[in-house]
Amino acid sequence: MALALTFQKYVLDFKFSAGTSRGVLKQKDTYIIKVSNGDHVFGLGEAGPLKGLSIDDRDDISEKLEAVAIEISKHSLPASVEEVYTMSDQLAGREFPSIRFALETALLDLLNGGSRTIFDNDFSKGKGKIPINGLVWMGHMEDMLSQITQKVEQGFTCIKMKVGSLDFDKECDILEYVRKKYYKSELILRVDANGAFSPEEAMEKLERLSTYNLHSIEQPIKTKQYDSMAQLSKTSPVSIALDEELIGIYELEEKRRLLERIKPPYIILKPTLLGGFKSTLEWIRLANDMHIGWWLTSALESNIMLNAISQFTADLEVVNHQGLGTGQLYHNNITSPLEIKNGYITSTGQNWDLSMLDL
Ligand SMILES: [Mg+2]
Repeated sequence: MALALTFQKYVLDFKFSAGTSRGVLKQKDTYIIKVSNGDHVFGLGEAGPLKGLSIDDRDDISEKLEAVAIEISKHSLPASVEEVYTMSDQLAGREFPSIRFALETALLDLLNGGSRTIFDNDFSKGKGKIPINGLVWMGHMEDMLSQITQKVEQGFTCIKMKVGSLDFDKECDILEYVRKKYYKSELILRVDANGAFSPEEAMEKLERLSTYNLHSIEQPIKTKQYDSMAQLSKTSPVSIALDEELIGIYELEEKRRLLERIKPPYIILKPTLLGGFKSTLEWIRLANDMHIGWWLTSALESNIMLNAISQFTADLEVVNHQGLGTGQLYHNNITSPLEIKNGYITSTGQNWDLSMLDL
């Protein structure tokens, strides 16, 4: 039976004005895709490039989806995970990582019977749980402090906060306050600079940040400054994590070269930006070989992809904190069995409600 693909643009509405390094977000556009085998069983996926960051944040994404719909109708359902990855790669190409990820997810869902089981494991059966970090949105100092207190009260033992975009002294005040209140052993602090520091000032700032016992800092300087990033990875008193640096890299050999050149202590893996499961697995294998730490992170997708990334993460049997706390951001998120409790994401086994979709 030939495959059929339909898609729908879906606008996610934030419950609050979400302060990020790329401005304040109120809405997030995303494309939900549905792949069926000609009957009522279907798999769902989602292509949700991040504005100003994803290489496929472009105007012709719906044209590309239309082209994929025509192409996929010449194929029948792949028989294995490997075949799903190969077909998704061929259909989406290197220029549309979020579409490749959406196709992988929808096809695996369909392969597993169309019940939002992307990977059959404890998590998808409603038994497992994954530790996640609590995300602190940017805002005024008081607001950020109260967000942190709230997260700790909710049971989070790992907090992630942005640095480098407000007044640096104020950010240090926040970190100092948090460290006075919570010891290193009870609260892990991760920060993300989104490339805010110049290579010249980075070391001085990192030395100051190191006094707050931080777990890691994402992307202290902008991407493609390889020598500076390699030097910082070697000498920074706060462990460096690459995030944006991984975007747009497609070939396995390019990935290996980047990691060998920079030798970062950590890498952050966002399947929507990196091109899905297969590409993320390549990064993970390289990282494991090179003793580089890593964690998975969602990137403001709806619950369809948060579910997919969570099930994928559960398959990898991680023990460290993952960045999967983005499910509760939207008024009109797709109702799913995902739940965040005591700093963990779980799946309750409750049913999905897809009535808000029009596919
Ligand atoms: Mg980041």
